Amino acid sequence: MEVTLLGTGSPVPNLDRAGTAYTVSVDGTTYMIDCGPRAVYELMENGIDPASITDLLFTHHHVDHNAAFPHFAIAGWTSGRESLTVYGPDGTDNLLEALYTVYEDDIAYRKEVGYSGEGIEDIDCVRVDAGFELERDDLTVTAMPVDHSIETYAYRFEHDDCAVVFSGDTQPLDRLGEFASGADVLVHDAHLAPVGEPPGDGFVWERYTTAYSEQLKDGLQKTHSTPEQAGEVAAAAGVEALVLTHFPPYRDEAEVRGAAAAEFDGTVHVGRDGLALSIEKSAVRHRANV
Ligand SMILES: [Zn+2]
Ligand SMILES: [Zn+2]
Repeated sequence: MEVTLLGTGSPVPNLDRAGTAYTVSVDGTTYMIDCGPRAVYELMENGIDPASITDLLFTHHHVDHNAAFPHFAIAGWTSGRESLTVYGPDGTDNLLEALYTVYEDDIAYRKEVGYSGEGIEDIDCVRVDAGFELERDDLTVTAMPVDHSIETYAYRFEHDDCAVVFSGDTQPLDRLGEFASGADVLVHDAHLAPVGEPPGDGFVWERYTTAYSEQLKDGLQKTHSTPEQAGEVAAAAGVEALVLTHFPPYRDEAEVRGAAAAEFDGTVHVGRDGLALSIEKSAVRHRANV
């Protein structure tokens, strides 16, 4: 099982981090989790054909997790995708309806010039709930609701005694430790990370160069986690490796890693776009961009 982080950013655009998107590849089939800003380019950057993906699972419908969806749907279709199923919580049907409403003429025009409607007009929509289970050959995908500002799910992918769990955006949860129990890799929200130095040149969001106000931090703590808290969940779950993700711009990565490592004895990765992990029978190897 191969896991690739396509985007590890937050809603604040960050030139170093695309919006949230990940892939899991099993036996030659690639599944995509979330489709945040820049996702199509990040697939290409990582050598993954966007048209090859026929299953897209959404954790939730915030803009940093779904903004590239129309691009993914239409560009993948015109590049040869013949079927697509999207899975997700409340709002997934609205996203599809928006695609068909906003891009009605765009799709009609492309059909006129010769593209078949197959792969775009017949997108399947599967509503995810707590009992969700996707079985495909030897792969099983399950979901668990987490605590964010809107309906949000964590996903667990299991294949051949290997498992990876994506927390989604969430406050720390004991039940996530149970859901991720025994997994090889846990990819966990660490949005509430300590601020570091902005780059010396180029564009900088001044607003994000200082720590959040106490008021904002209190609010965000109900919907996101700190690296320490992600470490606690990883320790409770007993995973091999923790991958921290969902960072605002200019975080201090050494502090982020140290905070999680203080709570968790396993391998800690500060997630980066392009980080790829191979999971084989409880051995986790990373092969890129660490
Ligand atoms: Zn969110
Ligand atoms: Zn988010």
